[in-house]
Amino acid sequence: MSPAPELKATLTLPQTAFPMKANLPQNEPLRLARWAELRIYDQLRKAGRGRPAYLLHDGPPYANGPLHLGHALNKGLKDFVVKSKTMAGFDSPYVPGYDCHGLPIEIKVDEQLGRKKLEMPAPAVLDACRAYAQKYVDLQTSQFERLGCFGRWDKPYKTMARDYEARTLEAFYGFLEKGFVYRGLKPVYWCIHDRTALAEAEVEYEMHTSPSIYVRYKLNSDPAAIHPALAGRDVYTIIWTTTPWTLPASMAVAFHPDFDYVAFEADPAPDNPQMLRAPFLPRTSAARAGDHKSQSGPVYIVAAELAQQVAAACNLGPVTELARFKGATLEHTTYQHPFLDRSILGVLATYVTADQGTGAVHTAPSHGADDFYTGQRYNLDSTTRVDAAGHIHVDPAAWNHPTPPAFEGKTVWKANPIIVAMLEESGALLSVSDLNHSYPHCWRCHHPVIFRATEQWFINMETEVERQDGSKTTYRQLAIEEIDKVVWDPAWGKDRITNMIATRPDWCISRQRIWGVPIAVFLCQGCNQPILDAALNRKIVDLFDREGAEAWHTTPIEDLLPDNPVCKNCRAILPPGQGFRKEYDILDVWFDSGTSWFAVAESDPDLKDIYTAFQNNEGVPVLYLEGGDQHRGWFHSSLLTSVALRGRAPYSNVSTAGWTLDEQGRAMSKSLGNGVDPVDIANRLGGEIVRLWVASIDYREDMAASENLMQRCADIYRKLRNTFKILLGNLHGFDPARDRIPESDLLPLDRYMLARTRELTEKIRAWYAAFEFHRVYHAVNEFAIVDLSNFYIDVLKDRMYTFAPTSHARRSAQTVLWQITEALTRLVAPILSFTADEVWDHLPKVEGREASVHLAQFPNPEEVFSEDPSPLLEEWKQVFEVRDYALKELEAARQGKVIGKALEAEIDITPSRRREPLLQKYADSLKEILNVSRVTLKDSLPGHHGQVMSLGSTPAVSDSQFDLRPASGHKCARCWNFMPEVSPYGIWQNVCTRCQSALKEMGIDPPEAVVE
Ligand SMILES: [Zn+2]
Ligand SMILES: [Zn+2]
Ligand SMILES: [Zn+2]
Repeated sequence: MSPAPELKATLTLPQTAFPMKANLPQNEPLRLARWAELRIYDQLRKAGRGRPAYLLHDGPPYANGPLHLGHALNKGLKDFVVKSKTMAGFDSPYVPGYDCHGLPIEIKVDEQLGRKKLEMPAPAVLDACRAYAQKYVDLQTSQFERLGCFGRWDKPYKTMARDYEARTLEAFYGFLEKGFVYRGLKPVYWCIHDRTALAEAEVEYEMHTSPSIYVRYKLNSDPAAIHPALAGRDVYTIIWTTTPWTLPASMAVAFHPDFDYVAFEADPAPDNPQMLRAPFLPRTSAARAGDHKSQSGPVYIVAAELAQQVAAACNLGPVTELARFKGATLEHTTYQHPFLDRSILGVLATYVTADQGTGAVHTAPSHGADDFYTGQRYNLDSTTRVDAAGHIHVDPAAWNHPTPPAFEGKTVWKANPIIVAMLEESGALLSVSDLNHSYPHCWRCHHPVIFRATEQWFINMETEVERQDGSKTTYRQLAIEEIDKVVWDPAWGKDRITNMIATRPDWCISRQRIWGVPIAVFLCQGCNQPILDAALNRKIVDLFDREGAEAWHTTPIEDLLPDNPVCKNCRAILPPGQGFRKEYDILDVWFDSGTSWFAVAESDPDLKDIYTAFQNNEGVPVLYLEGGDQHRGWFHSSLLTSVALRGRAPYSNVSTAGWTLDEQGRAMSKSLGNGVDPVDIANRLGGEIVRLWVASIDYREDMAASENLMQRCADIYRKLRNTFKILLGNLHGFDPARDRIPESDLLPLDRYMLARTRELTEKIRAWYAAFEFHRVYHAVNEFAIVDLSNFYIDVLKDRMYTFAPTSHARRSAQTVLWQITEALTRLVAPILSFTADEVWDHLPKVEGREASVHLAQFPNPEEVFSEDPSPLLEEWKQVFEVRDYALKELEAARQGKVIGKALEAEIDITPSRRREPLLQKYADSLKEILNVSRVTLKDSLPGHHGQVMSLGSTPAVSDSQFDLRPASGHKCARCWNFMPEVSPYGIWQNVCTRCQSALKEMGIDPPEAVVE
């Protein structure tokens, strides 16, 4: 029987305009418009003045496409940091940035322009690149804003902005003037597809199949000088390589000075078809006859440890050791190049290993880092004869034929089989097979890369620098010392970047492209050295500030060097206008973005005071937060530029995120179709759902994302929203200024909930401070669902619906529900930015309240609840133990059809002596928290401490006795409690005395009985 409709109308049911259906895709843009109207970012800056500062310096995403999930994760986390720091009382400005220069954009523009590009002047190409980047800056900005991220979006920093380009150049001049920079020939990773040098960070290892060949080099110096046993023999050494195309550049064979080498005699007639085919294979008649083979077989020199392996790989048959000697013996031996007219030098090198190969290492100084340095030690020719597009050209000094070799002009990959064929023809090839191995590839185009010695600009890692105390060290060492002063989160980041800095080669900062900041120096035509002139540099920086990097292409040399200066280096006097040429190489984009601390944090009017305070060690934290790959990228290049120019790390804290993977742990890719598009999710489910997903994961690990997981977040969202709706509904008619009950007068259950809210507030604030957003997410969910929906709001129904609205008991509950809603709304605002602000609009009006939750601060724990919550929470833990037992009893009674709803039951509790004082204290709350019609607390059993079998056939183990039975009395038609006394209230039948008092308090007179 439900209450008569008229009686039902006297219940105070929840009432709010806060809609259950969020319609996030439609409503979020409206709220964004409202924030824009409020100029909320500017208001936050104004409010932040004078507060302690916290700076998250944004790492710029590359502006060449729409957002992907990684971007959304990155900006979402940053937004959590900035908003939570702001609400915790910091001034936390956020200037987002974009990385705009570089190869991916230039390649796209190349594709768009096609052959037209060749006829276009450089500034026109730069314009096209600039427009391309700007298009994606605008797109990404709108998408980041759509996700509710706050920041200075109307004025982000861009590495292609004029002032940024000027600062990048200024930073380069800083390196140049301080003596870090040199120009040198050096083998660098080179992508022949993109025709550019690549930094270490731009190389990725992928599987690649290479020809694996063993080649013999014939000794042409005196064999007896190596060992008497070799006198008069045909001696070879064997090299192994997987890059046959480097053999035309072969200048030396390297041996380890301390390894044992053996000279062994191979079977002169092995079943090696190549050997048999070899036309010039020296065979004496004795050898052909099969005797005296020790006098006839070729002799091979390889590392002793590898001899058996090499003999097997080359199918040399049974071998006999003739001599054994140290590698040092082989220095300055000479060999004949297998197809060029060139003598190959025996050299020593300690990087030679006995892991694989032969212990005799083919050395091409123009195509390998180790080879290059060995070449320098032995004064070998390191001229590169492979051009930018990867075409090989023969060394004319080593080719005495009227026609060029077959590999001439071919790309290195096409040259490989040609060179193998030449080796086979000359009899130098001992073995060829395919090797599938991990090989460096270009991270942009994924083509395999080569090593190529080119003229490049470098930053010398061993430059002498001064520590802040004036003592001297190397640049590399100082960078490592600075790493140690930074807090790395997770901690393994410190080892990773330390190892990278400790082992990295010099930083190659030049690229042979145009979309970037030119290395704007003048090179002497006489000696190829740059002019070092600080005043001239200053002038060019000013030019860049006014006109951008294009100015380097458009300003004639005479305008910049009007006085025909003489080179200070070589003193060459050259005709006016011909003494110097402009360098057109551009800077590595990692140099661009790596100077953002200088171009933005230290220079931008909105940031420079804060950043300077950080640099002056005034306790201002500077956080860099990016993906874990940035230890080799932006964290790395930023550290190096800051250590060189300011002698310190550019950050105090570095935090790294893992990768977003699908539910099976696979990387997201177009081909797998497992990608999750954050913009699509925002359009279908809401930006709030993307935000909630970001909060739901532990970002330091790799993170799973899928449509399914997004839908699950949407479900969680609906539950949270529902909790907010019920909270707001119960606040109807509550004016905090008028109705708030002082903390000391609250009902015990309400006090408990306030203590619990304070505890939650403390935890959540601490988790925000530690960037443990997933803990915030789980704690909020648990509180909303377990503490509020399933418990507090549920047991409050009787009080909230049936008591007089203005009664003390109901106001006590409303006071606490209001404080909970206030606290929870603020605490979730950094994550659920849209919804928290929507709830904020529906909260009871308070004088002087901020226009948006985002302008408010986190609740202070002591304002939520003034006492230390622990003792109260401990007491209630015990009350809940009793409640858990009682709920089991109730469930058993329901199963046994003794009762239906809990309100149909009454319980006598006979507590153990231990429990008695506490239950007495909360006796008045027991009915409510058990949601039954009556609880009677009996005197404790003398001496009883537990273990009572109770009601029905279901035994419950407890230390208190529960006597549960159907409630006596009569069911009230209004509140459905079983009450000792119910009577008619006018025409309303069966209204309990409690309800009658409530109705009187509400001013509802009993309706007259209808007279028949
Ligand atoms: Zn490439
Ligand atoms: Zn010169
Ligand atoms: Zn009643």
